[in-house]
Amino acid sequence: MSTEKNNKKKSPIFIYYAILLITVLVISYMFVPKMLEPKTKEISFSEFVTMIKEDKAEEVEINPSEYKIKPKDFKESNTYYVTGNIYNDFHESSALLSLLDEKGLKYDSPIIESSYWLEIIVYVVPALATIVFFFLMYRAMNKKGGVMSFGKNTSKIYAETSTGKTFADVAGQEEAKQNLVEIIDFLNNPGKYTAIGAKLPKGALLVGPPGTGKTLMAKAVAGEAKVPFFSLSGSEFVEMFVGMGASRVRDLFKQATQNAPCIVFIDEIDAIGKSRDNSFSTNDEREQTLNQLLSEMDGFDSSKGVVILAATNRPEILDKALLRPGRFDRRIIVDLPDQQGRIDILNVHAKNVLMEPDVNFEVIARATPGASGADLENIINEAALRAVRAGKTRVSQKEMEEAIEVVIAGEEKKNRVMSDEEKRIVAYHETGHALVTSLLTHTEPVHKITIIPRTSGTLGYVMHVAKKEKVLMTKKELLEEIIILTGGRASEEIEFDSITTGAANDIERATEMARNIITTYGMSDNFGFVNWQKKNNLYLGDSKTMNCSEATHSKIDEEIQTIVADCYKKAVKILSEHKATLDAIASVLYEKENLTGDEFMKLFAELEPDIVLTRNEDGV
Ligand code: ADP
Ligand code: MG
Ligand code: ZN
Repeated sequence: MSTEKNNKKKSPIFIYYAILLITVLVISYMFVPKMLEPKTKEISFSEFVTMIKEDKAEEVEINPSEYKIKPKDFKESNTYYVTGNIYNDFHESSALLSLLDEKGLKYDSPIIESSYWLEIIVYVVPALATIVFFFLMYRAMNKKGGVMSFGKNTSKIYAETSTGKTFADVAGQEEAKQNLVEIIDFLNNPGKYTAIGAKLPKGALLVGPPGTGKTLMAKAVAGEAKVPFFSLSGSEFVEMFVGMGASRVRDLFKQATQNAPCIVFIDEIDAIGKSRDNSFSTNDEREQTLNQLLSEMDGFDSSKGVVILAATNRPEILDKALLRPGRFDRRIIVDLPDQQGRIDILNVHAKNVLMEPDVNFEVIARATPGASGADLENIINEAALRAVRAGKTRVSQKEMEEAIEVVIAGEEKKNRVMSDEEKRIVAYHETGHALVTSLLTHTEPVHKITIIPRTSGTLGYVMHVAKKEKVLMTKKELLEEIIILTGGRASEEIEFDSITTGAANDIERATEMARNIITTYGMSDNFGFVNWQKKNNLYLGDSKTMNCSEATHSKIDEEIQTIVADCYKKAVKILSEHKATLDAIASVLYEKENLTGDEFMKLFAELEPDIVLTRNEDGV
């Protein structure tokens, strides 16, 4: 196994050499000559003669315009002494010449002007530096063959034979773990799957807010499967030299295939996997890297047992091509933990910390809705630091509670963690949606309701059961959808007599739906069987432009408003009639933060015995 852990710094080596070279050149040409260049000092002729008489001269130069002395202390003073040639006729100077002869000074050759060192620095060093630079570049290029294959020898790819992590290190992500169990099994017994002819997904994408343990989870998968773990971070792909990213990807897959079965993990894949359309600045390097990744994923044979995992907290910006079947077709949600999850995570991280028996993780977990695994780890560490500072040998509940404030409230994460009042509002809002759904359609409303805030900005959500896929929808169903969407805001208004910003997304969707009823589906009596809005692009998103006159446009806007307002009134009516049920379910949701569809059905059956809800399972 080629383990190249230590050449982390190697990649921009040419940059370092180039910078060094330029620095040497600049210094030698600009500064050194100035510093070393001998100075010339004008002296009078009599001083000149005195210097010679006093044996201070080492060399003398006589030329038609001046006399010049190189003194014996030239090394220290770096100064020549000159005086004008006062004799017009050479013979007139015979007295001076005999003095020079007497002192044994030569005067027939010019003093060599510049110093020896100056020559070396100005001419030899730059030449040497240049030669060394080209030599190094040449050698680096040839090392792996291929002209200009900078990327090759700088690959940082490495395999950790064992990541040292297992599922036991990842707490409270049961759903994600279950989804990954199959991948582990596949890595251990690829034969079992290939014998039947089953193709396993080549890649799985771990999606979730920062700090929820995506990286950790990927390592745990490798640890559970006991296979090597090749990891690379998306940002590492995109570096200075064009072509480096692409060649890294190539290297990565080559190494992985040689070491199969193994896991290739690309962390923060959004750095390269950003959608190629609708970005203003194109980044060729990133695009090349992405294309290389796409073609490698298509090219390699997954039956050999290479599984690609990637992680991102921005799935919405990923290129569609990455998400299509045969690539990262499997999406594994790694969500913020619920209360029980938080307790489990605290337990995992508390293992190595000495705790007083009074520490109660349930209280801590209750106080930290919206905290990620990383936050919780941080809380424990902060508490431990505080205990040390206080001179204690064990962490007590007091430090834990202080740490919550420091970690959660002290940082910008504040807006992600809800206050108690907000939590109550969100509980009512989400219950409103769910209750309206079941009262209107008499079906199980949801798969899951949660009021754990997301980093994406939603404070809670209702996960709908995947209904049997419908090709056609009636107008009644569409209107029901709008009523359900308004149910959240309606519930807030009924209970708190005030409304919040939390319904922005509901409003957007309700408006869009009402607009479609009129402009696209031709369902409005006032506007008839006419298309008023055309799709701009069939495959890229669903941007649309209005396809009507200004006058019609404003009438359509009015009608949209009427439809939504009607629906809102209906939602208020429904919820007011069942206020007791709303209160009861909202308070349970407030307590538990999560309600599954089953739990909701049970509660509902107790509270509204007259209404029977049908299951709304996939395909039923
Ligand atoms: P992500 O990659 O999702 O941003 P990381 O995997 O880097 O998050 O998690 C950061 C740290 O937080 C982990 O090293 C781990 O110590 C802690 N952590 C996060 N989630 C969990 C979890 N579910 N169980 C245990 N520890 C967790
Ligand atoms: Mg990570
Ligand atoms: Zn809502």
